[in-house]
Amino acid sequence: MADELVGGRYRLVVRLGAGGMSEVWAADDVELGRRVALKLLARDADPARFEREAHAVAALAHPNICRLYDYGEADGRPFMVLEYLGGGTLEDRLVPGEPYPREETERIARELAAGLAHAHERGLIHRDLKPANVLFDDEGVAKIADFGIARLVGSGTLTETGTLLGTATYISPEQAQGQPATAASDVYSFGVILYRLLAGRLPFESDSPIELARMHIQERPFPLADARPAAPPVLVALAEASLAKDPDTRPPDGEALARALSEGEQAPALSEAPTIVGGLEPTRVIPRPGLTGRDRWPVPLPFVVAALLLLVAAAAGVAIAVLVGRSNGSTPPPSSAARRTRISGTRTTAPSTTAPTARTSTAASTKRTTTAPKTVVPPPTPPPTPPPPPPTPPPPPTTLPTTVTIPLTTTPPPPPPPP
Ligand code: ADP
Repeated sequence: MADELVGGRYRLVVRLGAGGMSEVWAADDVELGRRVALKLLARDADPARFEREAHAVAALAHPNICRLYDYGEADGRPFMVLEYLGGGTLEDRLVPGEPYPREETERIARELAAGLAHAHERGLIHRDLKPANVLFDDEGVAKIADFGIARLVGSGTLTETGTLLGTATYISPEQAQGQPATAASDVYSFGVILYRLLAGRLPFESDSPIELARMHIQERPFPLADARPAAPPVLVALAEASLAKDPDTRPPDGEALARALSEGEQAPALSEAPTIVGGLEPTRVIPRPGLTGRDRWPVPLPFVVAALLLLVAAAAGVAIAVLVGRSNGSTPPPSSAARRTRISGTRTTAPSTTAPTARTSTAASTKRTTTAPKTVVPPPTPPPTPPPPPPTPPPPPTTLPTTVTIPLTTTPPPPPPPP
């Protein structure tokens, strides 16, 4: 067939791919002298469904939807002639584990929303929106393609009862439950795509389509603001709103998505994402930006509690040690100890009786450290026995301690008193 003209004017050039229902060729329209994509129905495929796809696409004319130029039949096989999109699919451009570039993500989100708005306004639902159905032209403009299972609102589903069409990875909860798709179902799939672009991973991952469907119905995705703290808040908020389980609580259609995006452009602080300070960078620290499916959860709460208890116990141990040391007359004044530990990071330096220097006052500003303990704990009460009379004894503390530095490492035992 490659040598003949299909439909009297299309010369097949190279086969681009083949699905269960059709094969797609790059072809030349010899009458208009332009490159087209020719979608030819497989011999054993359902012509009624193919024809419906053609009718669906014929009703649409939008820069973000792949155009249908022509429809015909050759040797008993129906074919569609489509706008040729030489930039490949969005699926081809996704790198596992890597968020998509920020500006590209914003642009693609806007383009998909605009294409969906156009289709939804005309009563058409895609029902199978996914990155493999988003193609780019030579200028990099994203266009929605493959309305293969699209249906006109109110014209009845194309599927037999109980048959699940669509891709489980991007399917809405209501479609996964066998309920009819609405424009909000496309919004959900848009939300999955946007989540994937922002986070570098899918909201739900499983090798089993059944398990994936269950997750879409029941599970909450890991919060995007945690998966990618630097993501634009407006996009994060829109993806999370689009992924609502209840279709009634999502943005209802493409028009609502497009509106939210253009409002977000004008008011970048639109997002309610709690981690963003001043609309700039987040304060929350996440292990690493590109999360895999395995290590996407933060440190479990019990570990945090146990670590805090250890720290408190260590601080108390050091406080007692200092008290004991002072009661033995071996511990220098607190400010001297503070200076020593800051300099050496250990407690092995000989006691000093020199007066506190200006530098020791900085101990109050040193709240936490990841190096050796820097605990400075003046005793809350005077020692029970007075120390041996030094040449210039330090005055007893008259106020409660104001600085307690929490050691972040385990505290070594206090040094034995000097002989
Ligand atoms: P099917 O409906 O049989 O699954 P697809 O629509 O998925 O077929 O297309 C199969 C392949 O053809 C895809 O890899 C896609 O990249 C390519 N393709 C589809 N439409 C076009 C187009 N308009 N321009 C260029 N390539 C296209």
